[in-house]
Amino acid sequence: MSALPLASSDSAPSSGADDPQSILHEIFGYAQFRGPQQSIVDHVVAGGDALVLMPTGGGKSLCYQIPAIARQRAGHGVTVVVSPLIALMHDQVGALHEAGVDAAFLNSTLDWEQTQDVERRMLRGEITLLYAAPERVNTPRFLSQLDSLRERGKLALFAIDEAHCVSQWGHDFRPEYRALTVLHERYAGVPRIALTATADALTRADIVERLQLEEARQFVSSFDRPNIRYTIVEKKEATTQLLRFIEREHEGDAGVVYCQSRKRVEDVAQTLVDAGINALPYHAGLDAAVRQKHQDRFLRDEGIVMVATIAFGMGIDKPDVRFVAHLDMPKNIEGYYQETGRAGRDGAPADAWMAYGLQDVVNQRRMIDESPAGEEFKQVMRGKLDALLSLAEASDCRRVRLLGYFGEKSVPCGNCDNCITPPQVWDGTDAARKLLSTIYRVQQQSGISFGAGHVMDILRGKATEKVKQFGHERVSTFGIGDEFSEAQLRGVLRQLIATGALSVDAQAYNTLQLTDGSRAVLKGEVQVMLRESISSPAERKSRREKTARGAPSPAAATLDTAGQARFAALKAWRAEVAKEHNLPAYVIFHDATLAAIAERAPATLEDLQGISGIGTKKLEAYGTDVLRVCAAF
Ligand code: ADP
Ligand code: ZN
Repeated sequence: MSALPLASSDSAPSSGADDPQSILHEIFGYAQFRGPQQSIVDHVVAGGDALVLMPTGGGKSLCYQIPAIARQRAGHGVTVVVSPLIALMHDQVGALHEAGVDAAFLNSTLDWEQTQDVERRMLRGEITLLYAAPERVNTPRFLSQLDSLRERGKLALFAIDEAHCVSQWGHDFRPEYRALTVLHERYAGVPRIALTATADALTRADIVERLQLEEARQFVSSFDRPNIRYTIVEKKEATTQLLRFIEREHEGDAGVVYCQSRKRVEDVAQTLVDAGINALPYHAGLDAAVRQKHQDRFLRDEGIVMVATIAFGMGIDKPDVRFVAHLDMPKNIEGYYQETGRAGRDGAPADAWMAYGLQDVVNQRRMIDESPAGEEFKQVMRGKLDALLSLAEASDCRRVRLLGYFGEKSVPCGNCDNCITPPQVWDGTDAARKLLSTIYRVQQQSGISFGAGHVMDILRGKATEKVKQFGHERVSTFGIGDEFSEAQLRGVLRQLIATGALSVDAQAYNTLQLTDGSRAVLKGEVQVMLRESISSPAERKSRREKTARGAPSPAAATLDTAGQARFAALKAWRAEVAKEHNLPAYVIFHDATLAAIAERAPATLEDLQGISGIGTKKLEAYGTDVLRVCAAF
């Protein structure tokens, strides 16, 4: 008989010490807290309010799950977790069950009987973590249940996940979040912890005000995600560029491709499928059942590329997404950072890749201009777009700029395109003046404005049909810019539009219009520095060629042959278990945990102890099976 401190098969977390460190070890199987987790947990366990800003993958869940378990064990009862996504509650709760924690959710997917069952258990104070959507929290029924818990001292904690949803400055504004002030007003004294992975200063202040967290202690982590490599390329044939990127760097990997429109999602997904890539579309226009099916496949199968609008992603905590690609530019840096942050949660190398072009600038400006919002709001949105444009146009370290946007100082990172291959910079001041004066002269001569292509043709001296039709070869700037390539001029135009020295009239066929800001550039008072066209991907060395090519997983890259075989067998076993439990594979064990098992080649249950990710419950539930799988080698 082994002397392991196995828990009884009773899954209620009643045994064991109730200090956070023991819970971390016993329930989650981790040796140490990460970064600020320990101080956050201590603060909340002691009954303090907290606002936690931590990047995706930083480990936010434990910051409220461990206090919930500790406070339940200390007799304080139920923690209510407000989470915006019904579709993911099932997996979150499933992961807690796997770890032996009593958790449940209340949402519209439950039938009446199931709902009543959960409510009864909640009212008895048995459930440790109860997940609920914000709209449910505000129903009279739920509030009266909370009242009852409160009266009996069984309301332990409120955790408000994705707290940026409360702010219209955030990128996922959810009006229902506004009503969460009821938690503070009605249940004063019950501690609250709000968590988000994204918030610039403006959004942060808004969260504090909206959720009345003025007294809460703020825990702000570094937003750096060092394992993510940032690359922004100039858009030419976007889909072809994407295909090449996936084939060269991410064959067989799971990834997300963001596009702006539903139609484009469909087209791109089809192109990838035609090229033999395992891609699925996801957008709000698809039937809810289809969406759910695609999301499940993405979470449960390996190596799926999800082509999606921004409707996809919030709360997706799949740890082994190896790349996030943007075929169209997001609205602002918060969106970009949040979306790219879904890559590489497991800490292994991952890519954030974006193709960006003139049309993106035009589209985003137009969307702001045409939105029904007030002028003040539009002004803020324009400022945010400008920050993203200058990130895209930057010729210095992308990460320094990204972190700088969130108020963090840093040094060049060595893991972005600009650090790895510093771009050539050229002085585009002269080209910018010539472009602006061409636009001015053509407008003078013809009384109407023209689009980018035509203006560039004139400047480069191309006597196209259209140029001849309007007599524009007689414009005095005709051909005076023939030393510039079209790519260079596009770069200049992007920069001019990005900085407001030129505008695009969406109502009139995207024609170019001079602005008040044009004058300073025309006079040569503003220097326009630009990055050379980015070198083609073929010139870049593929990371795959440099490292273990075709390794099944970065986690397993260092294993020897026997280890690889064990790893593969463990993965096959895990897939079976996951299917049986109707949960994603990573909820059973992460790749990194399987790799550590494969490396140790365990013969006894003791050999499995101390491997990160194996808590008491999982050791008990799966230990023997894991040994059996490993024994086959
Ligand atoms: P977030 O919600 O901040 O994006 P998660 O809570 O999903 O991050 O955590 C990211 C990953 O890191 C998860 O797989 C989690 O199990 C793991 N993790 C969190 N804290 C620790 C820790 N202290 N030690 C080891 N792994 C951890
Ligand atoms: Zn860098």
